[in-house]
Amino acid sequence: MGARSQVVRWGSGLVVAVLAGGLAACAPMTPGPELPQIPAEACYDRSTQPQTAVVDSHLHFRPFGGAPVPFDEVMGYLRDTGVRYVNVYGIGQMLPVDSECTYYLDCVGTPVVPTLKNDFANATDLLASPPEGVHATLAMTFPDLSRPESVVAGIELLDREFPGMFRWMGEVNLVKQALFGNGHEPVPGAAIREWAPFMSLLRERGIPIAIHSDLGHDEDPTLYLPLMQEVLDRYPDNRIVWMHMGLSLELTTLPAAEHIRLMRSMLDRYPNLMLDITWRIIDDNYFSRADYQPLYVAFLNEYSERILPGTDFLASSNKDFDVYRTELEVTSRILRFVDDEAFRNIALGQNHFRLLGLADEAPAVCGDRE
Ligand SMILES: [Zn+2]
Repeated sequence: MGARSQVVRWGSGLVVAVLAGGLAACAPMTPGPELPQIPAEACYDRSTQPQTAVVDSHLHFRPFGGAPVPFDEVMGYLRDTGVRYVNVYGIGQMLPVDSECTYYLDCVGTPVVPTLKNDFANATDLLASPPEGVHATLAMTFPDLSRPESVVAGIELLDREFPGMFRWMGEVNLVKQALFGNGHEPVPGAAIREWAPFMSLLRERGIPIAIHSDLGHDEDPTLYLPLMQEVLDRYPDNRIVWMHMGLSLELTTLPAAEHIRLMRSMLDRYPNLMLDITWRIIDDNYFSRADYQPLYVAFLNEYSERILPGTDFLASSNKDFDVYRTELEVTSRILRFVDDEAFRNIALGQNHFRLLGLADEAPAVCGDRE
């Protein structure tokens, strides 16, 4: 642990973490103040410290349209809830600039289209105001996966304007049924086969890609599974994160045992695949059900190195701190029940650090919780 060990306050508890790299934004940072040394045996006490995740791997700082909650204000939400690591997402598609809407479902019929605007805005905000006490990883959310020829050009543009700043790609849409009314269509298989140039660029840079791909809907729960399989078969060496475990508001009645069996088979078959358990609808419809919860807890324990936590908060100006705090609590609720190893991997950030190649180490969980 050595000279760079730090005491870090996570949330309201007296949380102690040994972070080799300290806390820093992805842009170059100046070192923080010297903090007192801690004994190597310091551990995270789940009985007294927050059971919510210290990582929000999925947070949209930009809305579909209209004004966002100011960047600094969202960073304040994170500090106030003990979140110390965040992936800064834009949004994968926007309403036209002359639209009155902030949410696409309020403007069905109006096409939403992928755009670079959000990525520019987030990078500019991060440069202007590096957040204190929050490690921010900038995400490219512009790619239109149906137009793969445009993706490398977009990456090159961001390279020129913000060199080295973007270390994540997503959330990008392979198929999102909720957007069908706004002109979105599932990405055709032929387009997936043309992803190779940008997928190899991501591999070279060690950048994960976070993909929203609905499994299906209640009448046909695995309708779109072949699309995700095509991606995973074609690009097995990319680090791919599957958003929401394929679940959505269109798929709320898939039996847990079937869903878990499918997730297991995918994780076993594709070693570089990870699952994102963000978005409160997962807790609302699956994790919180008394008959489902033990099944999901066992699954999360067994595959604990393959799971990423987060809120899927969308920072449109009609949202506030209470909404963020509630979404963090709801999306973290299942983490109360997982074992200590899973808690460390998922909630305390070890998976996030490993996936992003950060030197940080999550603290051990204190034993004898009973
Ligand atoms: Zn999202």
